[in-house]
Amino acid sequence: MIKLDGLEVSNRLRESLKGQIATWEADNKRPPGLSVILVGEDPASQVYVAHKEKACGQVGIKSEVIKMSAVSTFTEVEARIDKLNNDPNIDGILVQLPLPKHLNERKVLELIDPKKDPDGLTIENIGLFYGGTHRVKSCTPNGVMEILKHYNIEVEGKKAVVIGRSQIVGLPMFNLLQQANATVTLCHSRTANLREHTLGADIVVAAAGIPEFLGKDDFKKDSVVIDVGIHRKEIDGKNKLVGDVRYAELDGWVKAATPVPKGVGPMTITMLLQNTFELAQAKTSIN
Ligand code: NAD
Repeated sequence: MIKLDGLEVSNRLRESLKGQIATWEADNKRPPGLSVILVGEDPASQVYVAHKEKACGQVGIKSEVIKMSAVSTFTEVEARIDKLNNDPNIDGILVQLPLPKHLNERKVLELIDPKKDPDGLTIENIGLFYGGTHRVKSCTPNGVMEILKHYNIEVEGKKAVVIGRSQIVGLPMFNLLQQANATVTLCHSRTANLREHTLGADIVVAAAGIPEFLGKDDFKKDSVVIDVGIHRKEIDGKNKLVGDVRYAELDGWVKAATPVPKGVGPMTITMLLQNTFELAQAKTSIN
């Protein structure tokens, strides 16, 4: 079984981005800028934001984390985002989700100037993405496509199954695979006989968010398995990460699979860096 090493692909892409960003910075007399707004103190969000900040530093994107209190009002968040929308040194604005319950996520996301939306979560960018003329592509699904590309895994004409229909993974994954000319089936929590679908698939992308629920018996021989799931699990007294798939079972059966960790995870952040840089480039090419 080929291990689809997302960390390796991610490192290569970051190295290439670093070079491109250095050239861009020399031409534009400033680095690309990303602002991350973190409302509240959700521990998982704090970890994700720290990873994003570190990754920005690696490739030469100037990042700042704006920490706001958990009781911030919509008007206060609006004022911060407005300021960033009007700051010429900021190319990307990211609101870390989930937000505290009293803030309406959709309303907050719509405050972001779509031209500064590297996650592609504003309605305008969602529309462009599904219309086929994307401004940015959804980070996690695009990371999956980059892994497939790197390992020369053919998508056109293949049968693909996506498990999960969330706005950030399943649905955009479906969209990118069909744009790449796969025949795609979207499965979800109400799908009857999930295994019937996965056993017929050449490529399965698992994003159900259920720890280790798929194994060898769910996949066709020589198929390709992409595991998007990330779950913390205590193994031998240590906190480990596992996916939706029991990776160890697949060896000798499937053709290729992504591990967890070091599979899709690192690619998501790399795609965020790439999107931020693309937005910076788009801005300067218009000016
Ligand atoms: P979500 O909870 O929003 O969506 C889960 C989807 O799975 C739903 O659409 C649901 O219909 C479907 N589902 C649930 N049970 C199912 C079942 N038994 N059979 C078939 N489908 C079922 O989750 P999400 O935000 O899409 O994330 C999915 C997983 O991916 C989570 O583990 C999350 O942590 C992980 N994730 C990883 C990355 C990354 O960078 N690797 C990024 C985002 C999310």
